[in-house]
Amino acid sequence: MEEKLPEDLANLSELDEKSLLEVLTGRFTQNLIYTYIGDILVAINPFKYLSIYVKEVSVSLKSLPPHIFAVADRAYQSMLGHLATGPKNQCIVISGESGAGKTESTKLLLRHIMELCKANSQLEQQILQVNPLLEAFGNAQTVMNDNSSRFGKYIQLRFQNSSVKGAKINEYLLEKSRVVHQDEGEQNFHIFYFMLAGISTEDKEIYGLLDPTRYRFGKEDMVQAWRLKYAEVCNAMDMVGFEEQEKVDMMTILAGILSLGNIAFEMTDSDALKVSEASRGWLKATAGQFGVQEEDLLKSLTCTTSVTRGEAIQRLHNQQQAEDARDSIAKVAYGRVFGWIVSKVNELLAPKVDCDVELNEIGILDIFGFENFAVNRFEQLCINLANEQLQYFFNHLVSMENSFTHARFVPLFQDLFLTKPIGILSLLDEQSAFPQATDRDFVDKLNSKFKTAPNFEVVRNHTPLFTIVHYAGKVQYNASGFLEKNRDTIPANIRELFINSVTPLLSVLFAATISRTGTLMPRKAKVYLRFNFCLFFDTPHSLAVLMEKMFAASPHFVRCIKPNRSKQPDQLDSKLVMDQLRYNGLMETIRIRRDGFSWRPKFREFAERFVVTYMLVFNSVMSLSCGIRVCLILDCVSCCVDYRARICRRRYLALLAEIRRQRQAQRERE
Ligand code: ADP
Ligand code: MG
Repeated sequence: MEEKLPEDLANLSELDEKSLLEVLTGRFTQNLIYTYIGDILVAINPFKYLSIYVKEVSVSLKSLPPHIFAVADRAYQSMLGHLATGPKNQCIVISGESGAGKTESTKLLLRHIMELCKANSQLEQQILQVNPLLEAFGNAQTVMNDNSSRFGKYIQLRFQNSSVKGAKINEYLLEKSRVVHQDEGEQNFHIFYFMLAGISTEDKEIYGLLDPTRYRFGKEDMVQAWRLKYAEVCNAMDMVGFEEQEKVDMMTILAGILSLGNIAFEMTDSDALKVSEASRGWLKATAGQFGVQEEDLLKSLTCTTSVTRGEAIQRLHNQQQAEDARDSIAKVAYGRVFGWIVSKVNELLAPKVDCDVELNEIGILDIFGFENFAVNRFEQLCINLANEQLQYFFNHLVSMENSFTHARFVPLFQDLFLTKPIGILSLLDEQSAFPQATDRDFVDKLNSKFKTAPNFEVVRNHTPLFTIVHYAGKVQYNASGFLEKNRDTIPANIRELFINSVTPLLSVLFAATISRTGTLMPRKAKVYLRFNFCLFFDTPHSLAVLMEKMFAASPHFVRCIKPNRSKQPDQLDSKLVMDQLRYNGLMETIRIRRDGFSWRPKFREFAERFVVTYMLVFNSVMSLSCGIRVCLILDCVSCCVDYRARICRRRYLALLAEIRRQRQAQRERE
């Protein structure tokens, strides 16, 4: 008989790295991929079909072992709330490295929540169809994962009482560079292959598409499965409610991006730049597909126009600059199309209720895990800083849950790298504002500001390198291209080119500013997304806002683990798993749990303890600046608002006052 292994590791009295790994491995070999550590669900990717997601499983949850559906169930029930507390927003944070199973978990959660709330079939179908659509445009085959999401997303399901009324998606950090460059063993976004494989002969004509082998951006042997996928995407677009013309425009723009990728340049004998003879046809095709004049397109590829003191100055490109211009047009166009799809989806799924009806939310966050490659660039920095914030959020809650004494009120990392005005990102932003500044200047600035900081290491090298010590390990960044990527601005002539397009969709996409959520903003509206830095702080939809939102909601954590690098079933590489347990902060969780193990406070005890901590903190921080003091106190209060105690702010404050009154009375008596 198989050994019965514990389902909740928080119940083990002896828990160290070794026993944790043993239990997880033991369970994995019995196909038990889910395990709890207290409220955290650990999920190991089985890389094979398991019959644990059928309907029968989902209806009898109460008696069930650890399961992703149970997390959905708990979030749903907590969202509905108890009589005492009323309904409350929930968020489910899914983390793990690429290929660990985050997106699959997200889909399972969505599916199960839809079942729980017995969604009306049309809305349910629409919400579920959003996934294949976003995956087609935002996912790609990578070395790590055949269906890797190349963007982060936060899906919010909106409920009125127990029934779902709509959904909203925020997307973060789409990896646009993939459109023009894929490393060995990697592919472009799925949609290009789906389109090339699945398109009908007539549509091919309409979009001006040629044989797949002709395109540099999409070279790959076409497979039958892609043909079916294309039909699925078209179906999803219909289901979600895209109009016929919009679909045609979108596909034509994609075809234009493919043609654009084929344009090559060469220098003439007289040292002038021209489009190579073989590319003339591609230039014409691209112009047709983008609905712009051929000369205008050529101009935006071969020169930059800048306006100085009211005078337009043209600077001719060299070959490299022309190629860069070509690639940036492709990236910008693709990014806009993606943002537009998300904005359309949000429009269509917006809850149709009176505006004074209060809606509750379950949010699901599926965002890239920590990355550390051979060369780490701007994208990795953004991803890792986002993860750093998430980890902070996680540690914060886990330590709050267990013992106040473990709360890190002012986390070091947060302070050094993310705050204004001295944080790494604000320095980057500052440098980006100087047209003459170089990546080297930026690194020099970092070196001088942070040389003594514990989370920073200076790298002496000709290349602009620097190292950050993240919670998950040291990462060396190569700052080449940081300023340019951070600026992320569209050159005026490219914007102008597209605004004048006769393709309605293109013209709209560039006449408007798309906010990070993908809602279209009128052109005159304040253009707040100037630099990527804003992602973290300045836009209403930035990650910082996301964090705030998540702090205010009741969190649920799913930690996904990849058992092996070769995507094989039934194989578990102990070292790989152990590394992830550390990255994921699970070792830390266990340490905290072991230290503060038995303290699971009753409400009153929790509040009493809080008062003591509060006073201690308050007294010791009187000498700090007012701003920090207020932050600290708010921090305490917002943390106390709930989590394990699950109480509302008003009740908490009332109790706090009561405790104070009692103490006062006691003192007076004495
Ligand atoms: P991530 O989003 O973390 O990068 P995915 O969710 O895309 O990873 O998962 C990668 C692959 O692993 C999936 O395409 C699927 O083949 C497999 N997989 C993930 N979770 C499961 C699961 N619960 N059951 C079966 N296979 C899974
Ligand atoms: Mg994914």
